[in-house]
Amino acid sequence: MKNRSLVGEAQEVQRAVALIRFGARLQVLEGEIALSRERLLRLYKEVAGKSPAKGMLPFSTDWFTTWQPSIHSSLFFNIYQTVKRAKGIARVDALIRAFGLYTEHLTIAGLPQVLTVTRAWRLVKFFDAGLLDSAPCTECAGIFVIQKYDLKRNFVCGLCHMPARAGKTRRAAEDALALDTGDAVLAAA
Ligand SMILES: [Zn+2]
Repeated sequence: MKNRSLVGEAQEVQRAVALIRFGARLQVLEGEIALSRERLLRLYKEVAGKSPAKGMLPFSTDWFTTWQPSIHSSLFFNIYQTVKRAKGIARVDALIRAFGLYTEHLTIAGLPQVLTVTRAWRLVKFFDAGLLDSAPCTECAGIFVIQKYDLKRNFVCGLCHMPARAGKTRRAAEDALALDTGDAVLAAA
């Protein structure tokens, strides 16, 4: 850390602040931000007004492919893939930008946020590690997050083939997806 420029350090602080404002767990900051743990803790307390939650991150890949989370995960993942195509963008900046767009979409559609920034970060990690994959739905052609060993060829998404108890939130989920596969994201691709 000794030789880092002031500008580089300011950039790291800016990234950390963005992640903390999104509600990121300390593990996300430690994984993505090149600042000491002490500085991250100080930043966290200053920005969030409290100490970070303690404990492990309990997420397995399963969560991302259960019904409602899978729709939000896929929404975020499509945005992330588009943002990531920008030349020279750092992974952490793609995460921050994509998560910001994800929450904006939800705000506009009046939908609750299901994916936290910590889970979004894990999602990206799981993809990078090859533990999650994506596949197009054979009915609606949307791209969805799937488990590594799920069959891709005849994949049908959770919106086209929905569990009965999910009926209540179908409309909301469809709205979320419409925003995702709609012109806004695809046009930028
Ligand atoms: Zn579908």
